[in-house]
Amino acid sequence: MVAPADLILHSGKLWDGRAIEGGEAVAVAGGKVLAAGANHEVERHRSEHTRSIDVDGRRIMPGLIDSHIHMVRGGLRWNVDPHWHDLRTLSEGLEMIARAGEGRDPAEWIAVLGGWNPHQFSEKRAPTRHELDEASPDHPVFVQRNYIEAFLNTRALESMGWIGSGAPNWVELDPELGEPTGRVVGVPALQALGPQLSPPSDEEQVEGTRAMLRELNRVGLTGAIDAGGFRMTPEAYHPITDLYRNGERGFRARLLVGASQPGDEVGELDRWMGLVSPGSGDELLRYLGAGEVILFPAHDVEGLDQRDITGEMGRLTEISRKLVDAGWPLHIHAILDRSIGTILDAWQQLGRDDDLAGLRFTITHADQAGEENLQRIREMGVALTVQNGMAFRGHDSIASWGDERVRRSPPLRTMLDLGISLGAGTDGTVVSSYNPWACIWWMVSGENRDGSPARVEEQRLTRDEALRLYTRGSAWFSFEEDTRGNLRAGSDADLVVLSSDPLTVPEHEIRHVESVLTVVGGRIAHVSGIPVVADL
Ligand SMILES: [Zn+2]
Repeated sequence: MVAPADLILHSGKLWDGRAIEGGEAVAVAGGKVLAAGANHEVERHRSEHTRSIDVDGRRIMPGLIDSHIHMVRGGLRWNVDPHWHDLRTLSEGLEMIARAGEGRDPAEWIAVLGGWNPHQFSEKRAPTRHELDEASPDHPVFVQRNYIEAFLNTRALESMGWIGSGAPNWVELDPELGEPTGRVVGVPALQALGPQLSPPSDEEQVEGTRAMLRELNRVGLTGAIDAGGFRMTPEAYHPITDLYRNGERGFRARLLVGASQPGDEVGELDRWMGLVSPGSGDELLRYLGAGEVILFPAHDVEGLDQRDITGEMGRLTEISRKLVDAGWPLHIHAILDRSIGTILDAWQQLGRDDDLAGLRFTITHADQAGEENLQRIREMGVALTVQNGMAFRGHDSIASWGDERVRRSPPLRTMLDLGISLGAGTDGTVVSSYNPWACIWWMVSGENRDGSPARVEEQRLTRDEALRLYTRGSAWFSFEEDTRGNLRAGSDADLVVLSSDPLTVPEHEIRHVESVLTVVGGRIAHVSGIPVVADL
């Protein structure tokens, strides 16, 4: 008796860790992969109830998994703010700002919250104060770039009291006119701007989260690990939990929770530990552990200043001990080599390397990691998740890191050769785009998006390696490497059919790959350009 399939995708080309010779089709039943192989092998599972889709020679692979993204936060404002992530021209960006103000109360702020770089535009520059005034004369506007700087229009400068004498020193002045240029620099300036935005209604936050998950499906993601972040209190998770309670089934979300602001980090963690535990939830929405911030003074932000966090080692050790004792995995942010060293010192103090390895303790980003710390990471059994943040801040980093260091960061090849467990992601939506293909292209080509010099050739990855990090590599971080990120029989039926083949397209085309068909748990979450009806 051959088991009948609910769904068969056939006449494609399979990739499962590598291109599968003769692999053409996948059969799915009960939300799991039933079989993968040649058309004639998989066809045996066809019954009269099987939905069969001819994918016309396209590449079929496991859905991509981002092991470090801020989708919970991103979803809250997804339908409200203009997104510049994949724009080619600044003029389009300015049009989006003009449209965003239409029909809204002039007191309401309009903001682009990162995910872009001036170099992506044909104009090769950020907006001027005058251009933002023209796009939106009535609304206060700011356009944030990473956690580095922002560009404001006149209404915004006035509203903040940043025009005239007494303006804070983060306001850039035109050297000839003595007038604010509209550019403000540094985290304190951005922290002052953030609270100006009016929060969307509860309904808008739920709808925004749904829209963002569909967009992630469109670019080929079937799941992700969310990294929490600044202002992510337990209340900020209500929209995503409401969405899943109301039937969201198109995305596997794994959540890290942590401190939402400086001050009472331990108290906040205690509150979380009373509310949830690792593994609580279901196969679609589940809590994973703590991260990416457990202690704000030990957070090196974008790694642009020579921050020294050694003074925080004692507190890092104590909070880590609390997590290990409670059986909580931890993913912790660190960009600078020195920060990584301090975190490893703190973990070594615990004297419990086996427990840390068992809980898959992870350093996330690790862009500047040096050989010595990478050796320690390997020996301690610590893992790493890497993202394409350097593609957006390589140029900014040169001043303090030096050109040579930037060109070796992150040392992807060294990490892989040492046998360290690695996952890939974007860290979207503020410090980079959420688009996984931008990251895969960056891992393979070494090209940065901000015009800074490319990563040296010996630290680039092959296409197969990059795709493995984005599938089974990322799946490992939520303890799901046996059932996700692969096409083995019995694994979750999370698959994508791609618009063009990332294994064979010219290298610079990798970043333009999309999904034409995204399947999660056997259901069609996204479809475009082929005659199929989605289930969601
Ligand atoms: Zn981070």
